[in-house]
Amino acid sequence: MNSSQVRYLIVGAGIHGLSTAWQLARRLRATGKGEGSDILVIDKSGIGAGASGVACGVIRNNYFQPAMRELMAHSVDVWESDPEAFAYHSVGYLQVAPEAMRADVEQIYKEQRAIGYESELVTGDKDCNRYLLDLFSDWKAEGITAVLHEKRGGYANNVASLKGLAAKAEAEGVRIRSGVRVTGVTVEGGAVTSVRTDSGDIRCEQLVVAVGPWVRDIWSMLGLPDRVTVAGPDGTVHTEAPMWEYWALQEGTLEVDPKEFTLNSGTLPPVVHVDSDEPLLDDTDGSLVTDQMWGIYYKPDFSFGGVQGGASPIRVAKAAADVEVDPYGTQSPEFVVGEDFVRMWTSALAHCHRRFEGCGMQYRREPSGGIGAFTPDSFPVFDRFRQNAYVIADSNHGYKMIGIGELVAKELLDERQSLLEPFRFDRYASGRLHPVSHSPFPWS
Ligand SMILES: Cc1cc2nc3c(=O)[nH]c(=O)nc-3n(C[C@H](O)[C@H](O)[C@H](O)COP(=O)(O)OP(=O)(O)OC[C@H]3O[C@@H](n4cnc5c(N)ncnc54)[C@H](O)[C@@H]3O)c2cc1C
Repeated sequence: MNSSQVRYLIVGAGIHGLSTAWQLARRLRATGKGEGSDILVIDKSGIGAGASGVACGVIRNNYFQPAMRELMAHSVDVWESDPEAFAYHSVGYLQVAPEAMRADVEQIYKEQRAIGYESELVTGDKDCNRYLLDLFSDWKAEGITAVLHEKRGGYANNVASLKGLAAKAEAEGVRIRSGVRVTGVTVEGGAVTSVRTDSGDIRCEQLVVAVGPWVRDIWSMLGLPDRVTVAGPDGTVHTEAPMWEYWALQEGTLEVDPKEFTLNSGTLPPVVHVDSDEPLLDDTDGSLVTDQMWGIYYKPDFSFGGVQGGASPIRVAKAAADVEVDPYGTQSPEFVVGEDFVRMWTSALAHCHRRFEGCGMQYRREPSGGIGAFTPDSFPVFDRFRQNAYVIADSNHGYKMIGIGELVAKELLDERQSLLEPFRFDRYASGRLHPVSHSPFPWS
């Protein structure tokens, strides 16, 4: 079978395209329904050219939405299946929260226990403070009344894990072609029959769209609506909700020796995520940064060469149709982080740890960040459209979701997956939306 005709055409060589290719190849072989060479992955740039290649790489279960937690637990199993190939560091994850989020965190803990996901919960001012000081002797943030310590998860190195996935897919016979851009889709009799690219048309039996922040474009090529009806849980119906909205992720690196950010025991800490409603003061001059709820996350990271992390993303003020996705990530003139983020994030680090006081000057001055395409409820859509076009639109939750590929692969072979049911597109019209938490992040 040559490149102009394939059974399975996957667009996008990020975490989802590559994991789907690998798992589909395995499944085809295991069921005798085909082989890896039935699958072609194309990417307009190359492996890791999108959001997966710039992701901070945090892997957590900590979601308020039960359906998200079950998906994440499944994905963590996949990360743990080959930590070396996926450059996965199983250091755990710590959610540190104020009273306003305490009930949410308690509920997450209870439900983690119900699905057998190992974590520890500490509540109350004094006990939280003691727990955090036992981990970090320089802990200083106050007003913390809930700590959830997930013993699994952690982080992975973005490009290294994609290379690991690509190698697994290629070992199964999958072909990956870089520098092939999809420019259109031909739909005949209600189904996709071929995809137009700048290297010629490719006929396919099944199309998988895994294009991250570029989903807006292929969605439009498929003739899908840019406005949708969203029925809210309170009975309100929004008939003209934008299908896509862009948010700019805010991340950066403090250029300190990552080895200096350890636990009191000298071992690597879990990824730390702190939400707080304490006023945040500028670490250099004591002026007010914010008196609104704020949140940050951070980890020592040897591939980034420092303490790397981020803060709540910023909604892009333009309509999705007007957003320039290219050039992407750190190459973008518009969507790399600015001074407000640097001030907020470094001040927040100093708010939490004595060791980071006065370290603002060590913030690495290089472009960082990237944008993500969010759905109307900020949760993923995993669904089939036009009979044979499977869209993986993760609403920017997705580097950690390395397991989606396995579930999608099964659905491509007509084995419906209950874990994916809560993420169908028709939930917007029918009002089966996910619950909303008190977190300052649109993705928790
Ligand atoms: C700064 C930042 C930090 C993040 N941190 C985390 C994190 O810590 N943890 C986490 O879980 N998630 C994180 N995310 C979210 C996560 O990175 C994304 O949700 C996920 O990587 C999306 O994966 P994907 O495979 O769908 O898309 P991508 O990785 O974006 O891959 C899409 C690919 O499609 C290709 N493509 C696009 N259009 C076309 C076309 N027309 N023809 C051919 N190819 C095309 C692109 O070149 C690209 O390589 C972060 C995102 C950003 C931006």
